[in-house]
Amino acid sequence: MLNLLDADKKEIECFFEAIGEKKFRAAQVQSWLYRGAMNFEEMTDLSKTLRRRLDEEVRKGTISLGGITRLAALSSSDKSTEKFLFGLSDGNAIETVLMRYKYGNSVCVSSQAGCRMGCVFCASTIGGLKRNLTPGEITAQVTAVLRHIKDEKGYSLSSKEERIGHIVIMGTGEPLDNFDNVKRFIEIVSDPHGLAVGLRNITVSTCGIVPMIGRFAEELPQVNLAISLHAPNNAVRSTLMPINRKYPIEVLMPACEDYVKKTGRRITFEYALAADRNDTEQQAEGLIRLLKRYFREKNGTAGLCHVNLIPLNKVEETGLEGSDRRKAETFCGLLTAAGVPATIRREMGADIHAACGQLRLSENNPDKTNI
Ligand code: SAH
Repeated sequence: MLNLLDADKKEIECFFEAIGEKKFRAAQVQSWLYRGAMNFEEMTDLSKTLRRRLDEEVRKGTISLGGITRLAALSSSDKSTEKFLFGLSDGNAIETVLMRYKYGNSVCVSSQAGCRMGCVFCASTIGGLKRNLTPGEITAQVTAVLRHIKDEKGYSLSSKEERIGHIVIMGTGEPLDNFDNVKRFIEIVSDPHGLAVGLRNITVSTCGIVPMIGRFAEELPQVNLAISLHAPNNAVRSTLMPINRKYPIEVLMPACEDYVKKTGRRITFEYALAADRNDTEQQAEGLIRLLKRYFREKNGTAGLCHVNLIPLNKVEETGLEGSDRRKAETFCGLLTAAGVPATIRREMGADIHAACGQLRLSENNPDKTNI
């Protein structure tokens, strides 16, 4: 089966030649796919006969248009966040989130079905890793969300009114555990002739696979990097994130420092606040010391990094609770007062289980939630 979103133009040209069609059909079809087309019937500059023929090939399983189908969609009460559950051709399911900000549409995509990193607070890792997603399956999440927005607003597929401005690779999976496919995905979505998402508007989030951070800086220097830190020291971090035993903080931090030096870009640290685990004043002070050791600038602040604080989303299975608002504000205040840039991330989708992997879990266990 050839997933047309995985294939490059040459491969699609070969496909058309093999079925006795002209090569230029490849560019036409690709352009429709990037606009959010879901079947050939919608590709109105192809002849009716060809469209029918191609839809027949899809039914036969020779080709697919992205390889994902929508299983469920949920909207937060204020409509700012929507979460989608997509099925893959092999029966696995993945999640994608659309966040509508004042500055535009942002999509959070999954990079793997399941995850093998084992972070104790995270719902995505509970069933382990199923498999890597292909570049086309990651891209299809973006085009399906774009299509959803266009449909909702009644815009035609060719309308330029709505676009995806930002992408975060922060859904299920560890992107640096699937580096080649994620890199290819980034090339596809940033292509100016396609979805044209600026490289500077794409963020990859990692639990800290150190050898891949160097490669990331080399090969994707314009893309933003976020590190899931979640603790200021090894004693706490290793209890939350097993990867810390392989790449502890004294190995992770120099890699982050190198990234900043090589790319000249700011680095983000994600810090999910879990009540009584990593949210004390002492831990805030530990975090300040740690970040200043590696990111101190001449003016004394840690200006080349940013800490994204988020009260941990409660996942039934993990037994961990998020810190309350006051605790989060105190923690944030300590960091900023010491010259470590920090913000508390707005929680946009808690009412629709938008935390990592939660929708997939609740689909499997319908009695556990109110979906
Ligand atoms: N594997 C990558 C990207 C996917 S997870 C990574 O670890 O960064 C995306 C972010 O969500 C990470 O910062 C992760 O630690 C965080 N996360 C996972 N479960 C969470 C939860 N229950 N509450 C808050 N953040 C969570």
